[in-house]
Amino acid sequence: MNNKDIVYSIDILMQKILDGDKQYDLNKIVKSYEFSAEAHKEQKRDSGEPYIIHPLAVSFILLELGMDTDTICAAMLHDVVEDTDTSLDELKKLFGEDVAMLVDGVTKIGKIPLYTKEEQQAENVRKILLAMSQDIRVIIIKLADRLHNMRTLNHRPANKQRATALETMNIYAPIAHRLGIRAIKDELEDLAFHYLDPFAYREIEQVMEKRRGDRQMFIESIQQRIRMRLEEVDYTKKPQIDGRVKSIYGIYKKVYMTQRGFDEIYDKYAIRIIVSTVFECYNTLGIIHDMFKPIPNRFKDYISTPKANMYQSLHTTVIGREGIPFEVQIRTWDMHYTAEYGIAAHWKYKEGIQGKDRFENRLAWIRQIIEAQQETNDVEEIVRTIKSDLATDDVFAFSPKGDMITLPLGATVIDFAYAIHTQVGHKMTGAKVDGKLVPMEYKLKTGEIVEIILSKDEGKGPNRTWLDIVKTNEAKSKIRTWFKKECREENIVNGKAELEREFKRNLIHVPESDMEEFLADDMHRHNCETLDDFYAAIGYGGILLSKMLQRMKDNYIRRYVDTEKEAPSLEPTKQKSTDGIIVEGIENCLIKFSQCCNPLPGDNVIGFITRGHGISIHKTDCVNYQNAVRDNKEMERWVNVSWEDNNTKAYRATLDIVSYDRKGLLADVAILLSENRIFIHESTSRELKNGNADISVTISVGGIEQLNNVIAKLKKIQGVVSVTRSGK
Ligand code: MN
Repeated sequence: MNNKDIVYSIDILMQKILDGDKQYDLNKIVKSYEFSAEAHKEQKRDSGEPYIIHPLAVSFILLELGMDTDTICAAMLHDVVEDTDTSLDELKKLFGEDVAMLVDGVTKIGKIPLYTKEEQQAENVRKILLAMSQDIRVIIIKLADRLHNMRTLNHRPANKQRATALETMNIYAPIAHRLGIRAIKDELEDLAFHYLDPFAYREIEQVMEKRRGDRQMFIESIQQRIRMRLEEVDYTKKPQIDGRVKSIYGIYKKVYMTQRGFDEIYDKYAIRIIVSTVFECYNTLGIIHDMFKPIPNRFKDYISTPKANMYQSLHTTVIGREGIPFEVQIRTWDMHYTAEYGIAAHWKYKEGIQGKDRFENRLAWIRQIIEAQQETNDVEEIVRTIKSDLATDDVFAFSPKGDMITLPLGATVIDFAYAIHTQVGHKMTGAKVDGKLVPMEYKLKTGEIVEIILSKDEGKGPNRTWLDIVKTNEAKSKIRTWFKKECREENIVNGKAELEREFKRNLIHVPESDMEEFLADDMHRHNCETLDDFYAAIGYGGILLSKMLQRMKDNYIRRYVDTEKEAPSLEPTKQKSTDGIIVEGIENCLIKFSQCCNPLPGDNVIGFITRGHGISIHKTDCVNYQNAVRDNKEMERWVNVSWEDNNTKAYRATLDIVSYDRKGLLADVAILLSENRIFIHESTSRELKNGNADISVTISVGGIEQLNNVIAKLKKIQGVVSVTRSGK
């Protein structure tokens, strides 16, 4: 940014042109300078300097970009139509059709009002794009014009500074980026950032300043080592090795937007190696990876897959002996010109580059946007198209609360959910982006607000197809882990069921309590430490039961039949279910308590075989059952069920619930107990002196586990202070 101090004069411009190897029409350029100086002679810049300094400075920038004679002339004249009496016709006569057309284009863009609101900004972009589509040189002049105005922004009133900086950040820098003109884009961003967040700017600047000495030494020593090593290799032309430091805004984006510490930004330091051929690029990459340790997942091949703005290079991040990571960019000269000058390379290196296609590609991009815009008339979409290119590697999406989640390009809403929390991922059933429902495979764009919709079902897990959809490795591994764990449970259940089935078929009846001992030999043989391991192995097919059944049978007869010990009865036993319901003639089935009548232990109940959802339990006086009986409908689907033997298993417990007294408290307690199918024998409640209430409730529970479970749930009721079990 020391460009501010450059003295601009036509003599120096002439000298620069003569020093360069590009052909210019010097007379025409001098003529345009003289015309402009005369036209603007009464005007001054805000800095107090003669106005002509500005068009001269813009011409300098464009000369550096390698633009042609007409572009330089148009830059000299770009403000004369707007700010002086000069007419377009006059320019046409003196400098030709092209120069007049360029000046007209720049003037039109200049009339687009300053950024005010989001909608207006979109409209501005649309107009700029329309002007661009006539002749791309118009926008290149405009970018140079904006760059000089940004360099001298400190002379403008404070309120203008912010508005101009915002417009630069939101519109001009993204356009420069999209056109691939890195030099202009970086400087525009740094300048705008300086006005938009001066504190952050200064902070980063100071940190960089403090480390400048170390950094230079470090980069130079690395460069030296690479240079020596590359000298051993036969290159078409000696490779060029540069050191570079990321722009301040570039660091800001990484540090502040991704919440990483300054030291975690790997690519503050970068080495750039420019070689002659694509083959040499990959060859050099091999040498670099041989010299330094590459950081996993930091290698990017933009040669085979160029960025949207045609950028090509190999990027890798490596660590040297010093333990400091740095990025290495490897590219050919062609790629380098395109990286630095983007679309302007078309003029600067007209002959050297096979760039006709690239140039056409860029123009095609502009045309596409304009065409799309004409169809949809959705100006916001245009802004988004440009903005989303700001970060071609990362997508920044937001939670409804405004938390930013950084994801790689192509990440889906599922990646987003898992990035928030593993459980959010497991429980997601859908997502809304900017308020609209989207499919699971929806790919996120920068700036979108994502709301994850969660399932109310506790047991809900991910879907196997997600593995093919998600982009991030984190999401993938979390989903895999879930399935591994989940499948184990499934395998155990299936394995156990299979074993029980085979035992029954072979008239083997081993009491549950003896099972581990009975199977000990086989478990040992298959390296299973626990019974569950053994069942799981059967479940997934690791152990083939058919191969060991004969031995098990022999074992059974030896242990139970041939001894004095009486073999346990082979009578089919009624299968217990954890829900406390016994279904006549059916074992191990899914039990569901119907919502219509909410049966509780002790009620007379009956079961209904649903289609695919197990058996639903109704009270015998439930209206649904009564109707079925009356209409004699599907009676074959009703089965007799009974409560598991309550007398032996259930026992009473009395709980003391202390709570802030509030309306509906007792009802909440009763509802909770009834929802958990817990029978209330009696309950009393009284008011305590301190305004609290004491509820005493005697319930029937199946065991201590269930009791603790109930206590935990009761404690969550609003206002409840404590829940304790009374002595008796
Ligand atoms: Mn201007």
